[in-house]
Amino acid sequence: MARKIFVTCALPYANGSIHLGHMLEHIQADIWVRYQRLKGNEIHFVCADDTHGTPVMIKAKQLGITPEEMLKSVAAEHKADFSGFEISFDNYYSTHSPENQFFSNAIYNKLKERGYIASRKISQLFDPEKKMFLPDRFVKGTCPKCKAADQYGDNCEACGATYSPTELINPYSAISGAKPELKETEHFFFDLPQFEGVLKDWIKTGAIPDEMANKLNEWFDSGLQQWDISRDAPYFGFEIPDQPGKYFYVWLDAPIGYLGSFKNYCDRVKNVDFEDYIKKDSDCEMYHFIGKDILYFHSLFWPAMLNGAEYRMPTKLFIHGYVTVNGAKMSKSKGTFIKAATFLKHFPAETLRYYYAAKSNAKIDDLDLNLEDFIARVNSDLVNKVVNLASRTANFINRKFANKLAAQLTEDQIFSEFANANETIETAYEGREYAKAVREIMRLADIANKYVDDTAPWVLAKDPDKSEELHQVCTNALNMFRILLTYLKPIIPSLVKAGEDFLGLELTWENANKPLIAAEINQFKPLFKRIEQKQVDEMIKESKEDLAKAAPKPAVENKEEELAPQITIDDFAKIDLRVARIVKAEHVEGAEKLISLELDLGFEQRHVFAGIKSAYKPEDLVGRLTVMVANLAPRKMKFGVSEGMVCAAGPGGKDIFLLSPDSGAQPGMRIH
Ligand SMILES: [Zn+2]
Repeated sequence: MARKIFVTCALPYANGSIHLGHMLEHIQADIWVRYQRLKGNEIHFVCADDTHGTPVMIKAKQLGITPEEMLKSVAAEHKADFSGFEISFDNYYSTHSPENQFFSNAIYNKLKERGYIASRKISQLFDPEKKMFLPDRFVKGTCPKCKAADQYGDNCEACGATYSPTELINPYSAISGAKPELKETEHFFFDLPQFEGVLKDWIKTGAIPDEMANKLNEWFDSGLQQWDISRDAPYFGFEIPDQPGKYFYVWLDAPIGYLGSFKNYCDRVKNVDFEDYIKKDSDCEMYHFIGKDILYFHSLFWPAMLNGAEYRMPTKLFIHGYVTVNGAKMSKSKGTFIKAATFLKHFPAETLRYYYAAKSNAKIDDLDLNLEDFIARVNSDLVNKVVNLASRTANFINRKFANKLAAQLTEDQIFSEFANANETIETAYEGREYAKAVREIMRLADIANKYVDDTAPWVLAKDPDKSEELHQVCTNALNMFRILLTYLKPIIPSLVKAGEDFLGLELTWENANKPLIAAEINQFKPLFKRIEQKQVDEMIKESKEDLAKAAPKPAVENKEEELAPQITIDDFAKIDLRVARIVKAEHVEGAEKLISLELDLGFEQRHVFAGIKSAYKPEDLVGRLTVMVANLAPRKMKFGVSEGMVCAAGPGGKDIFLLSPDSGAQPGMRIH
């Protein structure tokens, strides 16, 4: 009996472009969905833009448009990107929709009625200039643990500590720069701790991969907390029923967006029973493809909310890791932060779909897009092994046999090997072990190519007496090609479509091993071109240009330098920063930018050249305290040796600001 399956991808946030990191999840999900369709299962695949929250509100304001206007243009871009990669959503919708509002309200009301919603007053930081409460990510300040400056309100990127924004030292609003005030406000909470038993039972059904079980146990051990689901106006989202000025937190209505999108789809197509899929005792399957970064929301809040509102819980979460490029985090400055649209200008979608599939398994490992390997792999597998099989044999059928295939297949042993592989390939697709499926399909491709090498149709073609043999060999080879394409159909749909046009039939899973004989095929046209390093170079170049063109306006109105890569506290400890007193400062003969400084560290004196002449006069520097890097290797410069470096902020010119310690600090003190 056909299975009934509902599948979602995580909802992309509506304030940015789709990039190759997003595409991993969407490609993995799409392959699975296409496979299920080929198997004849009833499957519905939906997604939507995640549209609410402060970042969308602020970005729209910066652009001088309404959030709704911004959502419209972002949605158009996202849809174009996904269809460019052949992601076959049945519906791509928006969380800013009447359906989503309906379900958000319905779920909230049900939770409230059943005693799972609490309210209480909390103190939160408030921006007195912008007249708004500040989300954690919009408060910055000095880390209370390690004292690193400019850290976010929820955690420190320097030492990894997590804390509440009220613990920050010298906090400021990242929107206006104003000093925030602590203000009381009423918030609403979802009582997650009441669901601990329900969640533990749900996890026992295998809903979460074993790899993640430890993570979840950690969360249970540290105790589940009530979840704050409300935000104060101004906020872009849904107002909470009967609570004017209070809005649902974006993470409440985002997963509900799965249901909103599905309902919108069911109402349009009219032959799918929405209730059947989401009712409490549903026997339909429901899967969410998500990245490991949003596990908390999908493994705790979302199933608990569904259960509390008397809906079914997800069957399983399919979780993936991150995409790296050339072994490193995607980087805007290296040009490896590649947008979906940029990729598609330089390569067909099939190349990335194939490469991701060839490296995907059901584990949560990160996947590396190694661009050199990407070229090699696509060329050796898709071009040399698959497409060439047809291009080496099709022309003979076209030219010498009036497009007609021979009346039978020979080589029973090879064809039974192809048929037997079916089970391995099915198991691999079903289990999202796409790398295994690809390996098995390429093993068959190797067998097929060896067959063509051994029978050498181009030699047979020279001998008129061997015409029948030539006809047979080419018919066999094209049938091997046909089966390979059927097996690859979930991964590279448009290449397979071109193959179908050539073979003159639709490839179905059922008919994979049914011979195509005595049939007429069409004129062979090249199906796929080799890809080259030059295309990669151009794509990287364009990604760098994108960055220069579309540099987003910074949240704070000053020039922002991109944050350096994260370091550990041990990395930081390698840098010996000391308080130093400037005891002598002089112009340097012939140097445009430098001032020569004598620095007293208490235990010794150092001579340092500092490029601060455009902002300071030597006479103003003498006697003041500053900060120097005291363990920097001495550097020989044009005007002499520099034995360290003084610390200053700013872009240069008049805007150079020498650091000074607070009063009381003494020369030689180390800075921690
Ligand atoms: Zn810190």
